Amino acid sequence: MAICTACRQEMSDPETTTCRGNDCLRITAHNWIPTVRYESDTDKRCPDCNVAAGGHHHPGCDREKCPVCQRQRITCRCRGKRRR
Ligand SMILES: [Zn+2]
Ligand SMILES: [Zn+2]
Ligand SMILES: [Zn+2]
Repeated sequence: MAICTACRQEMSDPETTTCRGNDCLRITAHNWIPTVRYESDTDKRCPDCNVAAGGHHHPGCDREKCPVCQRQRITCRCRGKRRR
């Protein structure tokens, strides 16, 4: 059980299929790009943050790819990491 701070939904809830608080990455004040959605050939949920295929990961998910460099977002150095 964990409530996501970005979308305020329960991450383990099956009805939480995407993170509405993590749909774009802010590069500069006027430059926003969409975040990378979770892709799955099966209908499995994201093993880390439990979103459904096609949904946006919750921030901090280790399966989320950075839309800028395509590497793992939590370890890359691009901007847009959320800290609360
Ligand atoms: Zn979320
Ligand atoms: Zn995820
Ligand atoms: Zn990056």
